[in-house]
Amino acid sequence: MLRQRSGSILCYACGKLNRADASVCFSCGARWPGLWGFGPLLGRVVGRLDMARLVTVACVIAYAASLLLDPRAALRARGPFDILAPSSGALYALGAAGALPWAEGRWWTVFTAIYLHGSLLHILFNLMWVRQLGPPVEALFGRARLVMIFTVAGVPFTIGASGAVFGLLGAMVQYGRSRGGTFGMAVFRQYGQWALVIFVLGFLMPGVNNLAHAGGFAGGYLAALLAGHGERSPERSLHRLAALALLALTGVGFALALWTTFVR
Ligand SMILES: [Zn+2]
Repeated sequence: MLRQRSGSILCYACGKLNRADASVCFSCGARWPGLWGFGPLLGRVVGRLDMARLVTVACVIAYAASLLLDPRAALRARGPFDILAPSSGALYALGAAGALPWAEGRWWTVFTAIYLHGSLLHILFNLMWVRQLGPPVEALFGRARLVMIFTVAGVPFTIGASGAVFGLLGAMVQYGRSRGGTFGMAVFRQYGQWALVIFVLGFLMPGVNNLAHAGGFAGGYLAALLAGHGERSPERSLHRLAALALLALTGVGFALALWTTFVR
């Protein structure tokens, strides 16, 4: 059943029960509160989403592709930090972000670049943190809001999921602050310390964009503040719609990157 035509349905904006065929939410006044009956379908689609796995698979495929596009460059390591480092040409072809691609109108690179990595250590480190931080953020904010926080925080102009990882840390810190109490303060301290440690680590490693880390943290903090966490407000269709739109934009981004590089 793709579309629910009868019974009751939750408003996508405020989450209150409405009749499935209502044209205006009785509570908040939103038009077509049940999204023409597609609200429940949205819930089922997002319910199957495993963001940590999706990010892992996408990053590994994009990384393998970036190595295969220019294998000779990838094998030319000069130190531990550029073992299996794809060439900048290969990364550009797959959608690396930066001032130049942006100036060329490659807007989608802000989404695709999250999934591109500059070396073996870079991708290992980021995926380890995505898998570590994805589950707690999902538990406290919900699946759709995890996607929103991850993507919004990952947007700063650089390759790699580091900005998004800092965004997940920022979201946890925001949750801890907003919740307060013994548990909230424990979350605040734990994730705040991790953020601080990885941020300082960034200054000890070569080629790290520390500004993007700070920007990612701020972006995640802000996205968490705006989206709200699960204790305050349950996830609604509006969040699910936003999450699927962001994932779709990312998919379209990769298609556009490949199209402009290999077809046009
Ligand atoms: Zn409503």
